[in-house]
Amino acid sequence: MSRVPVALERRSGAVRPPTLQTLPVAVTANVARVRARTASTIMAVVKADGYGHGAVTVARAAVAAGAGWLGTTSVAEACALRAAGLAVPILTWLHPYGIDAEAAVAAGVDVAVGSVDELDALVARAPSTVRVHLHMDTGMSRGGCPRGQWDELIGLAQRGQQIGRVSVGGVMGHLALADRADPAANAAAVAGMREARRAVRAAGLGTPPAHLAATSGTLTDPATHFDMVRVGAGLVGIDPSETVEMRGASRLTATIVHTTAAAAGTPVGYSGAYVTDRATHLSVLPVGYADGIPRECSSQAGVEIRGRRFPVVGRVSMDQIVIDTGAASFPAGTTATVFGPDGGATPSVQDWARWAGTIPHTIVTGIGPRVKRTTA
Ligand SMILES: *Cc1c(COP(=O)(O)O)cnc(C)c1O
Repeated sequence: MSRVPVALERRSGAVRPPTLQTLPVAVTANVARVRARTASTIMAVVKADGYGHGAVTVARAAVAAGAGWLGTTSVAEACALRAAGLAVPILTWLHPYGIDAEAAVAAGVDVAVGSVDELDALVARAPSTVRVHLHMDTGMSRGGCPRGQWDELIGLAQRGQQIGRVSVGGVMGHLALADRADPAANAAAVAGMREARRAVRAAGLGTPPAHLAATSGTLTDPATHFDMVRVGAGLVGIDPSETVEMRGASRLTATIVHTTAAAAGTPVGYSGAYVTDRATHLSVLPVGYADGIPRECSSQAGVEIRGRRFPVVGRVSMDQIVIDTGAASFPAGTTATVFGPDGGATPSVQDWARWAGTIPHTIVTGIGPRVKRTTA
């Protein structure tokens, strides 16, 4: 049998589409790291398609690893999780398209209500009993019922529960300052949460689960844990407090589409923003800012190819970036890792965030639709 020489095989390597691979084992490991910090129930927050990692994939891994609840920002997202067979309790908040109470009841999904008006509409029109979590503003001024209206909200919930339109299934707040990893910064919100819980109990609404913390509160301040913690970023390897190393849960790869030798003094890309300072090799990767490569990234940015880091040079284009590989010449089809959890020469999502002057969340949620998704 004739064999294709290795050199030829390499030269004709197949160009494959850019791929974002989700790594459920990393989600499993991250849930374990969260579990090591808290005995409270873990809600796996999978909004924004599981922070770009695939909501169903992340949810399944998190639930298998012990998460007892799921969280999303719309009832439609929750219904998609139900359709995928996820049976644990789900809470939705924000409701950018309004609360579809019928769908929430049909799918057995809890909804957070953050204003008297929102609750009023449910009490007036709920088709049958909707389970609500009273969302109190505990210091963020972004969502949740302002403190001056807590009594009114609780009173309305009490009446709504009496007539069977709603039942109170939880009380929630949110931390604005937990990324500081300083319990003193959370103290006012913790006190507010306790007060809200007392007021709910005093109104005869029992002691439904109270929840306040997201990833950073969970990892850094036990006083914020209450009955349940809502962890999103941590599932996919991001600790916004930057105190605990979590495991990156995705790997973005692209294969080189072509490589050229370039003389010293060759301008690269739009505006010739980079000029080669020596004879070198330039490789093109078919990912650009439309795929989520931040155009703002600094000259530090790089990718991994065969165990070595090579810089991204010149402007990030819409559909492509150029890599300067120096003396090395990689044939088309060679795989480059843009980011991944592997360490060493492979950049992390956090590296890209630093190069772009942003947070890791925007990198993972910004991967464009034409990047192929797979699961390891
Ligand atoms: C997104 C979100 C969370 C999860 O936050 P992470 O920092 O990603 O863990 C928790 N609660 C609410 C209300 C959220 O919107």
